[in-house]
Amino acid sequence: FDQRDGEIWFNGEFVAWKDAKIHVLTHGLHYASAVFEGERAYAGEVFKLREHTERLIESGRILGFKVPYTADEIDSATNELLRRQGFSDAYVRPIAWRGSEMMGVSAQNNRINVAIAIWQWPSYFDPEQKMKGIRLDLAEYRRPDPKTAPSRSKAAGLYMICTISKHAAEAKGYADALMLDWRGQVAEATGANVFFVKDGAIHTPKADCFLDGITRRTVIDLARRRGIEVVERAIMPEELSGFSECFLTGTAAEVTPVAEIADWRFTPGEISRRLVDDYASEVTPKRAAAE
Ligand code: PMP
Repeated sequence: FDQRDGEIWFNGEFVAWKDAKIHVLTHGLHYASAVFEGERAYAGEVFKLREHTERLIESGRILGFKVPYTADEIDSATNELLRRQGFSDAYVRPIAWRGSEMMGVSAQNNRINVAIAIWQWPSYFDPEQKMKGIRLDLAEYRRPDPKTAPSRSKAAGLYMICTISKHAAEAKGYADALMLDWRGQVAEATGANVFFVKDGAIHTPKADCFLDGITRRTVIDLARRRGIEVVERAIMPEELSGFSECFLTGTAAEVTPVAEIADWRFTPGEISRRLVDDYASEVTPKRAAAE
């Protein structure tokens, strides 16, 4: 992945993709003092770019550091990099981390580095295939109490248990894993939020100990605009047998129907299909839609 052509924006400059390197004594690597974003560009425009940039800056603030660029600077670097990379549909990965000047838990004076990379990562284009739904396992690890970890930050450290859980699920042939939270309530998948359908209404866990996804909020708005009731509440795993549909939402996942979670079964249906379609139109820039 590090030997590609193209460029990466690295601390204010465009550098060759292969040369965007850091030292092994980087604090972010040893102590997970890093925050990142995941964004998607559609038809040459990053969907909700400013919201993502603001979340990146806020994630850093929660970890105790100041991202040394303004939201305007990061947005224009992103747009310029997208243009230079020449992609119209792409995935965008900004990251900010503490550098290698000092090694130890405390690294007050280490430089805060920022980089942005953009690569092609097609969204799932075949709607019929998508409507079959993916299979999830139940993860062993749980999302921690917000008093135990900074849940509102998209912090690299919070992904350690996601990678473990996703790898364990994949080893058993599943696409992903559903994580419960420390109370045993349904929380989210390893890189996406989760929704359920029952009697024409949508139910989703309250985002009180995991990332309140930008896609999650978008899909809640889209559903309400359709007149579909959305209930944010505590959901226990025992309730899963009472739901007819299930889907995941996230920048990478977009709206992805789910057919199985461990022994529970769902049938992707009308509400999932409507939101897959509504989300696809929502992310299409109005300019492109008008062409
Ligand atoms: N939860 C986790 C753990 C994630 O990694 C993501 C993807 N960023 C989400 C939820 C969904 O967030 P968003 O819709 O902002 O991409």
